[in-house]
Amino acid sequence: MEIFDEFCYFHGNSNISNDEKYVTITNIQEWNQLNPSTIYVRQMYPSFPTGKLNIFRLQLSNDINWVERGLRMNKQSIYGLTIEELTEWMLEHGQKKFRAQQVWDWVYQKRITSFHEMKNINKECIELLEANFEISTLNVQIKQVSQDGTVKFLLQLKDGNLIETVLMRQHYGLSVCVTTQVGCNIGCSFCASGLLRKNRDLTSGEIVEQIMHVQRFLDETGERVSHVVVMGIGEPFDNFNNLVRFLKIINHPKAFAIGARHITVSTSGIVPKIYEFADLDLQVNLAISLHAPNNELRSQIMKINRAYPLEKLFPAINYYLEKTNRRITFEYILLDDVNDHVEEAKQLAELLKDIRHLAYVNLIPYNPVNEHIQYKRSSKESILRFYDTLKKNGINCVVRQEHGTDIDAACGQLRSKQLKKTRRLPSL
Ligand code: SAH
Ligand code: SF4
Repeated sequence: MEIFDEFCYFHGNSNISNDEKYVTITNIQEWNQLNPSTIYVRQMYPSFPTGKLNIFRLQLSNDINWVERGLRMNKQSIYGLTIEELTEWMLEHGQKKFRAQQVWDWVYQKRITSFHEMKNINKECIELLEANFEISTLNVQIKQVSQDGTVKFLLQLKDGNLIETVLMRQHYGLSVCVTTQVGCNIGCSFCASGLLRKNRDLTSGEIVEQIMHVQRFLDETGERVSHVVVMGIGEPFDNFNNLVRFLKIINHPKAFAIGARHITVSTSGIVPKIYEFADLDLQVNLAISLHAPNNELRSQIMKINRAYPLEKLFPAINYYLEKTNRRITFEYILLDDVNDHVEEAKQLAELLKDIRHLAYVNLIPYNPVNEHIQYKRSSKESILRFYDTLKKNGINCVVRQEHGTDIDAACGQLRSKQLKKTRRLPSL
């Protein structure tokens, strides 16, 4: 059966209209019967399974400037499969088990860009893979290299959406910051990524492919991605299953072999997922975006605190610590005259005192975002004062070294600038 993926690029703003306006299409005939002059906005589906009939749900909207719509064959990204899943797929499709290992090797070790490069694989298997999988679903739009060696990639997805990936040169290795969603629904008041609501989750293949693009860039100098931080656009725990699959793939010794202890996932504090993450026992590091030591201030800066206030967040953190005995990083952005007083530093030390042997505070100088003019970066003196107060109260902390400030390296900044240029994001 042929599988099609409808696509639709829209330019301008869209007001998502109510449910009655959904149209459900289950086959190509129904698609053809749609009025071509009607404007439809796609209801995003994170991943289309191959080999099954896809149901398209389109949403009618009257509030769009211009739309391009069409159909294409739907294929899955080869990077979205674990080795076990690829083996199973090969067996289901009449191929020998060892083929999966061979293909995996071509994909991850030789980093092919076309299935036809696989010399020891027969034609039938190559054609089968070609018909069902894509090897490249992201397209590098802009690559900015900073004076400090930070490289920022603006990548375009198949559906036209833009995401960012950043390579940072650290003293301990080469670290990549990946994006997990197009936009973010958490809407923290200081963040460029939250300016647009979430458009869709990234598939695991799209997250893995970000690492592949950076690794290909590093291949030119014979270097290797050694660390990964899930701190790009999006809330990783709001895309949990794809995140976990991504972690398993990049950690696999025959893929990128990135050690679990070299991977850090950052969350704004989605409490139920912290419990789930702890239960997975992955050995991956966890970072919590705290940013304030009390509910009043935290709710003001991060509205997620209204759903998961500190009295819900900390039991989850304690559970994680008991279960894993792994150290947690607490991220704390310093915003001038908002959360950077000695009083807040003392409150933070008090909040963390019982877990201080397993807590580490990362003080982050705020990276100004044009749309959030209410916030300014704390002065050097305030940052030092905050740091000293934490230290004096026995809390391990560090002031985060900044990377690529000359190239819009803050979370979501390059993307939001680019979107404004193409007039997809309203100027606020
Ligand atoms: N959604 C997750 C992960 C992505 S954000 C989270 O919030 O943890 C990764 C980190 O970048 C978070 O700690 C976030 O608070 C921080 N961040 C966002 N905007 C920033 C800015 N303008 N300046 C400095 N740090 C920022
Ligand atoms: Fe989303 Fe994280 Fe930005 Fe908050 S800080 S809006 S959770 S990406």
